[in-house]
Amino acid sequence: MTTVAELMDYDEVLERFDPVLGLEVHVELNTNTKMFCGCANVFGGEPNTHVCPTCLGLPGALPAVNGKAVESAIRIGLALNCEIARWCRFARKNYFYPDMPKNFQTSQYDEPIAFNGHLDVVLDDGTVFGVDIERAHMEEDTGKSLHVGGHTGRIHGAEHSLLDYNRAGVPLIEIVTKPLVGVGARAPEVARAYVRALRDLLSALGVSDVRMDQGSLRCDANVSLMPKGATVFGTRTETKNVNSLRSVERAVRYEMTRQGAVLTAGGTVTQETRHFDESTGATSSGRTKETAEDYRYFPEPDLVPIAPPREWVEQLRSTLPEPPWQRRKRIQAEWGLTDLELRDLVNADALDIVLDTVRAGAPPAEARSWWVSYLLQRANAGGVELADLAITPAQVARVIALVADGSLTNKLAREVVDGVLAGEGAPEEVVDRRGLRVVSDDSALLAAIDEALAGQPDVAEKIRGGKVQAAGAIVGAVMKATKGQADAKRVRELVISRCGE
Ligand code: ADP
Ligand code: MG
Ligand code: ZN
Repeated sequence: MTTVAELMDYDEVLERFDPVLGLEVHVELNTNTKMFCGCANVFGGEPNTHVCPTCLGLPGALPAVNGKAVESAIRIGLALNCEIARWCRFARKNYFYPDMPKNFQTSQYDEPIAFNGHLDVVLDDGTVFGVDIERAHMEEDTGKSLHVGGHTGRIHGAEHSLLDYNRAGVPLIEIVTKPLVGVGARAPEVARAYVRALRDLLSALGVSDVRMDQGSLRCDANVSLMPKGATVFGTRTETKNVNSLRSVERAVRYEMTRQGAVLTAGGTVTQETRHFDESTGATSSGRTKETAEDYRYFPEPDLVPIAPPREWVEQLRSTLPEPPWQRRKRIQAEWGLTDLELRDLVNADALDIVLDTVRAGAPPAEARSWWVSYLLQRANAGGVELADLAITPAQVARVIALVADGSLTNKLAREVVDGVLAGEGAPEEVVDRRGLRVVSDDSALLAAIDEALAGQPDVAEKIRGGKVQAAGAIVGAVMKATKGQADAKRVRELVISRCGE
């Protein structure tokens, strides 16, 4: 049975309460192999084909730490301005779930590899919000269960479940924030902006493919409310595995309005995990939350402690990329963008794709304009990300070059882009197939002009008499005759010179 929760008006929530946020982000590393065994670390694949005795938790199988994963963990910690542990261990987190055959997850508990960091997050209006990072620790992913026969894909109501252990043992880094206070009305926006900033940072580090839609970046959003002016935090809920930036924002907002209604009606918020439903935008109750004691954490006896030498840590520090916000500032200066133009680029997730287009030879202004206007419209219309559009930055650069050399008008260029998006091939192929080239041959244009002048002798007379404004009617007729495939400016020049002869 599902009951529809009472919600409180958002503004009313803010009049009565202060929200507190806590974000836990899990990121799957893109190492070649898994965290504690040599199995391939790849997304998907035939179920149970990337498994071995270690990641299946068979008796007697022993784990060994993936050095590359430790390296990525340290680089992530450094990029988040964390301290790096001089000595730390793995811990067993005991609980039962069928997708975790060992019945414990190898994780870190009170000895994380990285701790006490911070990340500056830029909000939509350019305000910078500093997020304190509690810790970043190493752990392993679980397998995947597929619940069959129900309506929701959840275990409730399913007839049977299938288990795929390909993901079991994939290296994960869990990044946990300190409680974020003082965010007020901007709580949902801060949550989204933080996950975006983290995603961009991890992507720049090259440690993960950060695909929220494929689960390689997942966010659990903790939310609580406390009465205005209070200093003790309220009880939090933890909405699990929210898998898009937009959903992070919606889930936080929903929980605020739900908890506001519960508390105002005199009820109490239950500490529990919740699920976010993309289609309704609502969260629903999951399991009541275990406390740390329930997990019976204890140090993992089968793995040696990790004591990264300082020289190694410093050497890894020197491999850090330019931080995303600094890179943005640099590009803004190089391209001469206003704050608003930069923000539009960032909000459309277009920065990298525009950079690639520029690298493929397009001028920055044109590259930017194509991606944040026409292509963004097309992406929004199809409900996909810019990066998922069926056109490459190199192809966009090619279209821009065809406009620059006069082979295409802007209007024709949009048709070429439509053709590429529709799978009709590369820009040149679409131009040929759809016959979209600009009629640039003056003799062909002149023939069309003469025909138009003959068709409208009164207009022709006016132009000959010096009324060049009248040329518009002839230009219009020529554009129509050439199906828009002429350069209107050139046609106008030709009409005027023709009538002046
Ligand atoms: P758990 O193991 O229960 O998920 P974690 O310590 O991993 O706990 O993460 C809890 C997250 O919630 C952290 O980001 C923490 O800062 C945050 N948090 C803790 N208490 C509250 C609260 N009362 N309201 C909102 N967030 C909270
Ligand atoms: Mg947690
Ligand atoms: Zn394995």
